[in-house]
Amino acid sequence: MKEIREYNNYIGGKWIASQSGKVIERYNPSSGKLTATYQDSTAKDTELAIQTALTSYKEGEWSNWTPAERSHLLMNISRKLKDNVDRLSIIETEEVGKPLETAKAVINGAVENFAFAATLARNIPGESRSLNKKLDAIITREPVGVVGLIIPWNFPLGILSQKLPYALAAGNTVVVKPSEFTSSTAFELAKIMHDCGLPKGVANFLSGYGGTVGQTLTDSDDIHKISFTGSTKTGRNIVKASAGNMKKISLELGGKSPVIVFPEADIEQAVNGALNAIYFLQGECCVSGSRLLVHEDIHDNFIDKLVEKTKSLNVGDPLQDNCDIGPMIHEEHREKVLKYIKTAKQEGAKLVYGGKKLENGKFSDGSYVQPTIFTNVSNSMAIAREEVFGPVLSVISFKSEEEAIKLANDTPYGLSASIWTKDLDRSFRVSKAIQAGTVWINNHIEAFPELPFGGFKESGLGREMGVQGLEAFTEVKTIQFHHS
Ligand code: NDP
Repeated sequence: MKEIREYNNYIGGKWIASQSGKVIERYNPSSGKLTATYQDSTAKDTELAIQTALTSYKEGEWSNWTPAERSHLLMNISRKLKDNVDRLSIIETEEVGKPLETAKAVINGAVENFAFAATLARNIPGESRSLNKKLDAIITREPVGVVGLIIPWNFPLGILSQKLPYALAAGNTVVVKPSEFTSSTAFELAKIMHDCGLPKGVANFLSGYGGTVGQTLTDSDDIHKISFTGSTKTGRNIVKASAGNMKKISLELGGKSPVIVFPEADIEQAVNGALNAIYFLQGECCVSGSRLLVHEDIHDNFIDKLVEKTKSLNVGDPLQDNCDIGPMIHEEHREKVLKYIKTAKQEGAKLVYGGKKLENGKFSDGSYVQPTIFTNVSNSMAIAREEVFGPVLSVISFKSEEEAIKLANDTPYGLSASIWTKDLDRSFRVSKAIQAGTVWINNHIEAFPELPFGGFKESGLGREMGVQGLEAFTEVKTIQFHHS
């Protein structure tokens, strides 16, 4: 794809430029070439989008559509997205730097999220209770109102699809703020939704910086809910800002997910799983398995195999078919990852593979880092405690199941974990003891729209996807019928 994509904001069914007259330029993190421009929106632009969504919500066109009508529209969007998977995957590869096959898998996941949310639109949960002969009650769910969706750069369409179709299925109107680095596929989705006949004003998309657009959305009294994915630091800001009008919030934040390998595990399967857990999207993933806990009896053999396989990974142009690891999202982020590598060495971790910037030859225009493995890591070191968000694996050895559980839970995060074992009893015991929103047994990273996703502890608030993902965009109302 050679042309530069240029996007205006999509507000009230129209494509309009920001009042700032300025644009944000996005450069391909692999080639360094300009790939897209998005509007550098102001607080006033954001206010326009909020008021448009509010008017649309008050007029009630969307919430008055029947559940069946909303469901059909969401299904049509899903079909149209499916027709565009290849094109949208190339765009995400150019902007995020993710390997093309990964981009395709994630965008196919977005297709499934729209399809699943379409089924939920016709199945909004409700209950009834009979309290006595003269009193019955119904418990219904209503839309929250106007929802702000704030999206990070790593899965622009994937994470948006974990929120948007569920919010729409419940009858809300929305304002979407994609990341300043990777806004294109959100606007491509806006075009698809427009073509499918979504009424104007129901979904409004505007690009810009977090401190401007994100903060205005978060501060606004006319936004009734914020659903955010990103760093724990920004998540804390959103919690504070929500105090103004007590807006509801859902937060999907960081992680430091353990991959726990017990001695009876299928070693070949576990090595491949650990590799995928850390290097999927070059470690720029909230559920990346960045702490590998390996039983001491199998530790050395396991690490030898892991290093051997890591050596054979193909780092390079993410648009090429055989790419396993692409560049970091941008130069500043590469520097952050390299700083963690430096600190790990200073703190006494043993570098067994990688650790360097890749900057010569085919890497000269991109922000590449070698896949990196540290052993002898202690759980108190910065690389074991903080979210590096890069292809950097910390290996920690353990002696017993109790110690593995203790290490796994010794983190402020609680997003996910994986357990590698053939012992069924152990898999139940350990999965129940792990403080995390998702636990995989003999797998890592897989997600399905049917399954709720979210974190314990500082990894967030609330759940996305599943029936819970729709409920998160509703208010519960209890109506009591006193009768004779
Ligand atoms: P941020 O949390 O800063 O960004 C996520 C989204 O929030 C972006 O759309 C961003 O806007 C927006 N935002 C930023 N500031 C505000 C604000 N004050 N109010 C409202 N919205 C705001 O993450 P970064 O992109 O800076 O990444 C930093 C680190 O966060 C990463 O290194 C990683 O550790 C973690 N992270 C975790 C993710 C996850 O999936 N859990 C995803 C992304 C990052 P803008 O467009 O300006 O970036």
